[in-house]
Amino acid sequence: MTLKDLAIGDSARVTKTGGNGELRQHFLDMGVIPGTIITKIKLAPMGDPIEFDVNGYELTMRLADAEKIEIETENLAETDNKHKTTTTSANAAVKTLHPGLGEDGKFHAKGDGDPLPDDTLLTYALVGNQNSGKTTLFNQLTGSNQHVGNFPGVTVDRKDGAIRGQPNTLVTDLPGIYSMSPYTSEEIISRNFVLNEKPRGIINIVDATNIERNLYLTMQLLEMDVPMVIALNMMDEITGNGGSVDVNKMEELLGVPVVPISAAKNQGVDELIKHAVHVAHFQEKPLRQDFCDENDSGGAVHRALHAVIHLIQDHAVKAGIPVRFAASKLLEGDKRILYALDLDVNEKEILEHISLQMEAERGLDRSAAMADMRYSYIKNVCRQTVHKPHESKERIRSQKIDTLLTGKYTAIPFFILIMGLVFFLTFNVIGAFLQGLLESGIEALTGLVDSGLTAMGTNEVLHALIIDGIFTGVGSVLSFLPIIVTLFFFLSMLEDSGYIARVAFVMDTLLRKIGLSGRSIVPLLIGFGCTVPAVMSTRILPSERDRKMTILLTPFMSCTAKLPIYAFFTAAFFPKHGGLVMTGLYILGIILGILNALLYRKTLFKGEPVPFVMELPNYRLPSPKSVCQLLWEKAKDFLERAFTVIFIATIVIWFLQSFDLHLTFVEDSSQSILAKISGLIEPLFRPLGLGDWRICTSLISGVMAKESVVSTLEILFAGGVASALTPLSAASLLVFSLLYCPCIAAVASVKRELGAKWAFAMAFWQCAVAWLCAFAVYMIGGLF
Ligand code: GDP
Ligand code: MG
Repeated sequence: MTLKDLAIGDSARVTKTGGNGELRQHFLDMGVIPGTIITKIKLAPMGDPIEFDVNGYELTMRLADAEKIEIETENLAETDNKHKTTTTSANAAVKTLHPGLGEDGKFHAKGDGDPLPDDTLLTYALVGNQNSGKTTLFNQLTGSNQHVGNFPGVTVDRKDGAIRGQPNTLVTDLPGIYSMSPYTSEEIISRNFVLNEKPRGIINIVDATNIERNLYLTMQLLEMDVPMVIALNMMDEITGNGGSVDVNKMEELLGVPVVPISAAKNQGVDELIKHAVHVAHFQEKPLRQDFCDENDSGGAVHRALHAVIHLIQDHAVKAGIPVRFAASKLLEGDKRILYALDLDVNEKEILEHISLQMEAERGLDRSAAMADMRYSYIKNVCRQTVHKPHESKERIRSQKIDTLLTGKYTAIPFFILIMGLVFFLTFNVIGAFLQGLLESGIEALTGLVDSGLTAMGTNEVLHALIIDGIFTGVGSVLSFLPIIVTLFFFLSMLEDSGYIARVAFVMDTLLRKIGLSGRSIVPLLIGFGCTVPAVMSTRILPSERDRKMTILLTPFMSCTAKLPIYAFFTAAFFPKHGGLVMTGLYILGIILGILNALLYRKTLFKGEPVPFVMELPNYRLPSPKSVCQLLWEKAKDFLERAFTVIFIATIVIWFLQSFDLHLTFVEDSSQSILAKISGLIEPLFRPLGLGDWRICTSLISGVMAKESVVSTLEILFAGGVASALTPLSAASLLVFSLLYCPCIAAVASVKRELGAKWAFAMAFWQCAVAWLCAFAVYMIGGLF
């Protein structure tokens, strides 16, 4: 029997974790190992993926993957002690207070260490699972001293900052990961950071409400042999529900300081800082790395691990990889470590023999045996130290909310309702209000500067550059700022609360059909508002492939800036069928997006979307501080762009439309360089029924901002556009406007995410698709 066949609400014991490679390692890392009890909770509204409970948290996976998990339903009560979750443990109820400031704590060898010189920069890696409160803690630790950049070679955000009150420190926020397996790009980044950049210390954030799975990463971090403190987060939820954690005992079992904190409430953070500074300053390495037990399942793993440690010791030292970490990764079958260690043929053979012997004795393959060993130790630690509350208020609340938000019949209506509300509030209410305010501000300022320049008798050309070029150009882009910030406010609320994970769960089946996973739905939806934040929001996607593909699809989602174009031409040419034409355009965009996705899937982005093994965290109230920080970041990011790329582009376009080839300033723009260029490309547009330099000019200006297509046309045609076009060429123009190169702000944000090559390729491809479609419309329409 497999997990797929299990009835909803039933429990079963895992007997075999099938599959291979990345996916299988994910299953194991997330705790789906032979012996574990799992409970099926529900199917997504479209029948796939499924949601189930493992070790007290909620995990989703696709049906096709669930088929690979073999289970049995007999004798569940007889589960051996090792695999029981800790909920029922009785003797752990002892409440011990943490002795407080750990300078006197057990796990600091104060004084007898060899402290680093006082002026050494103490670098820290902040590592933890997704949703463990990493962002919240990072913001608490660093306040406003942050610096955002990218990890070398990849476009994953890298945030650094000094700890508040500790000038000689630098914390780096690593991507949220579940294990140090080298399978996802995030895991590789985090692993390489710790291995290669050799931070002076690790701050490991652990979600106490989900402690087994979080400690799995901890086990692997301890093997890195780097001074470390554990920040036991979400303690407010544990104590609030009558649970407790014996922190001192946990320190003893793990050999590193454990500090209970609540990042959202800023409790325990000061103490955490003191410990972190102390362990790094005195370079106090973890006291314990040996978690395999000779009595655990006959000691097969224990013997194998120690044999490998002896075997590779000198190689590991030479390669600069912590020995214990290297050994357990080798036993898991990690090819990269094998390569890095440079073992000779004999040693490789011995390693293989040891691994085979372990598999035979343990009755599990190597990765499962290692995962099982780690989880055994964790269960043992939790049994002795964690007293879980029987019922957690947050969990019950989450389940109640989920009966609606992921319910079979309610999920999709609620999704539409919530997204509709977000868009309505952003584009019609709050964002629009702020945008209006900003626009009138810019207008007033422009007027002021205008009259100022006139009063000073500034040179006519300079005057025009400042007013018509810079103020108009940058101003029109700047007026998007409120919309972007408002949209991000709502989206980060949805993201941090845990809802976005549910949306991905609900929508996965649909997006799978075009080669993406459920998570891509968010950026695509935002694309209907504005491509710029849509592209920026693809950062939430876990795989580089999905991210690229999603970014390339966002321009097909017709953004709001194109609405004025549609409105103008439908009013002029299709007054009776306005709504129909507009809806048709939106649908055409979606259809072409789907066709492109299918094309990309067969060509550029072969392979599978990320496996959908995803956690559904409890719903939590986002902390206002984190949200504000994020908004500030986005705004800064956008402003930086507005004043660099867009600033320059504005000047260039203004220059082209204000000067002729002899570089004399022209009043009549039909003499300008832009008109000449438009004249050159005009033959290209003739087959589309758009052979007029003024139309070409307006389309070029549309690259600056789509809204300016209409305003440029009105100026150049002096109000008589309607006479220059037929309904058919108007239709062709509409289709072209829908699809061609997105505005410069959007292209710039693609460049920022994927690099110049991709940005240009995308701009070119959009133009090509637009040309072909407009041509098809003009040709086919001409037949009637
Ligand atoms: P990340 O995914 O690891 O960066 O996690 P976040 O920092 O985004 O936190 C996830 C959610 O947990 C947010 O809604 C936070 O407000 C919330 N959260 C973080 N720390 C705590 C805490 O100590 N207690 C409670 N109750 N919630 C928290
Ligand atoms: Mg976060």
